Amino acid sequence: MLRRIDVFALFFLILLLATPGKLDAAEHYEDLRRNLIRQITDKVRTTSRYLKKTALDEQVLVAMSKVPRHLFVPKAYRRHAYENRPLPIGQGQTISQPYIVAIMTDLLNIQSSDVILEIGTGSGYQAAVLAELAKQVYTIEIIKNLQRSAAERLKNLGYTNIKAKLGDGYYGWQDHAPFDAIIVTAAAGQIPPPLIKQLKPGGKMVIPVGGAFMTQYLILVEKRMNSTLSTRQILPVRFVPLTGKH
Ligand code: SAM
Repeated sequence: MLRRIDVFALFFLILLLATPGKLDAAEHYEDLRRNLIRQITDKVRTTSRYLKKTALDEQVLVAMSKVPRHLFVPKAYRRHAYENRPLPIGQGQTISQPYIVAIMTDLLNIQSSDVILEIGTGSGYQAAVLAELAKQVYTIEIIKNLQRSAAERLKNLGYTNIKAKLGDGYYGWQDHAPFDAIIVTAAAGQIPPPLIKQLKPGGKMVIPVGGAFMTQYLILVEKRMNSTLSTRQILPVRFVPLTGKH
């Protein structure tokens, strides 16, 4: 039988052997995230004619460098998590390309006091990036399994400023309106009128608009202080459709 002192020695030996491995893994993912940020920065430069800028807000890149994208994708895709491309998350849905997440976030010009609405929680990744920058994020997902697993994932990762619910995001979330910014991460045939209503005067919305078989464009909508709208077409994109019975 092992003596008590031997048990302690064994415990510390295991701890010693396990710790460097864990540190290596964390450092490995940090390296991959740094590399992803470099790829995004390069792509922003080469697409500057669409974006009308050559670099994104540093705060957006800092936020993205903090969120562990590998924990938002199915295990089978984990090794691809820091490639600059969308990945399947089940139920025929995807986690968006990191470059697209970065430019949509940048377009919203988020302040630390902002309250934000996201339509299309998916994996919860975009919500996590927003939560790094804003005071509060509300997010709606229409597929039950995705909604449940994203809410659990965000809770486990310690995001206390994200509230997630199951529902049709076309109608927004009236109880928490108006919002400083709204982000829609599925393509709509038209900008949903309830979302325009729930946007604060002075607020911004980014939304991909266009049918499943048509060219979709990322649109930036700005609500002026007198509640009139201005829209700007940013660049062609490809998103899964906004579904629901509306
Ligand atoms: N933002 C997500 C992320 O970070 O993983 C990716 C979103 S994925 C491209 C689009 C999501 O929108 C899907 O999960 C889809 O089920 C959801 N969706 C589609 N129509 C919706 C609707 N009417 N209301 C809420 N969510 C919707």
